[in-house]
Amino acid sequence: MNSPRLEVDLRKISHNTRTIVGRLQRRGIRVSAVTKAVCGHPAIAQAMLNGGAAGLAEARLSNVKRLRRAGITCPVTMIRTPMLSQVEEVVQLCETSYNTEVSVISALGAAALRHNKVHGIILMIEMGDMREGILPQNTRHMVRRIMDTPGVALKGIGANFACLNGIAPTDINMRTLSFLANDIECQFRLLLQTVSGGNSANLTWAFGPHATGRINDLRLGEAILLGVDPITGAHIDGTYRDAFTLVAEVIETDAKSLRPLLRCADQTIAKNLFFPVISKTTRIVLAIGEQDTDAAGLSMPANTKFVGATSDHLILEAKDVTLLTGSEIRFQLGYGALMHAMAAPDVETILRSDRSAPNAHDAHGPDKHLASV
Ligand SMILES: *Cc1c(COP(=O)(O)O)cnc(C)c1O
Repeated sequence: MNSPRLEVDLRKISHNTRTIVGRLQRRGIRVSAVTKAVCGHPAIAQAMLNGGAAGLAEARLSNVKRLRRAGITCPVTMIRTPMLSQVEEVVQLCETSYNTEVSVISALGAAALRHNKVHGIILMIEMGDMREGILPQNTRHMVRRIMDTPGVALKGIGANFACLNGIAPTDINMRTLSFLANDIECQFRLLLQTVSGGNSANLTWAFGPHATGRINDLRLGEAILLGVDPITGAHIDGTYRDAFTLVAEVIETDAKSLRPLLRCADQTIAKNLFFPVISKTTRIVLAIGEQDTDAAGLSMPANTKFVGATSDHLILEAKDVTLLTGSEIRFQLGYGALMHAMAAPDVETILRSDRSAPNAHDAHGPDKHLASV
């Protein structure tokens, strides 16, 4: 099998989704599954839908196109403010988008009218992360502008936390968002379908003791894919942490137990100065590097230590001195490492198939449970 490769267990992703969706359902919250970390991989998206996600959310149009090309027809929400240069495609591919800019909203409306559509707008409100969003005090003004814009309909409001500054949402933040939802509805006599509280960083709040108020949606990527709470790093009960495994091949072992005197300029002398270093560990070189993943974001297998990585090499120190050149080492990944590996051209994605996933080979050979895309 090729390496480096990313092995994806679709059943674990469906299971993680089902577990989190079930717990949030009891709190009156539905899940929009975020596929950006897996570059809109259709089979992974389908596994999230099979697990009960209400819809998909994406940050990049290229990924939405990939989902649509694979035949996924569920609602896909654009969670990054659309680029002005992309409004035409956004209204064709996405029912709804998150927005903060009047000029973009007008352009979306005009594009929607050209395609005989009404495009849904979710207004993103800034609540402390200082990434995207309008200031809460400008909410009514913005809502009026949206209502005056032909071709768009206000579907809801949302907030985002912990992306830029790592600060988790508080109960006060969530109550403020609920308050704003009520205020808009009273003021403008309309019904907001969606009040989206945030991302995986909101789960501690959502599973906690506080009332969830008007919050009825969370946009979840990391928690579903990796089974972790991004703020605390804690394992989310009942989920798998190993739905993804990165596999890389050993291309060199042992050599570093002989250490040259590196500063010696004369090569003939340098050769004679090689001397053995007595050590119980072996340095191992793997054929994977920063171009394939975020090396520091890999969790090291037992009895190994991360030494460093360059663009194409990863160096480990291993207690297992029996590891041979040609053998494979398996890693679990953090979110950044996963995102990079999914986007890397030399990392093959291997699916452990879930029968209901699209594009998964329904082969009858010995590789029945493996499908490569
Ligand atoms: C990436 C992103 C999410 C999902 O974040 P996770 O931490 O993966 O749950 C949700 N909302 C927005 C706006 C995002 O950019």
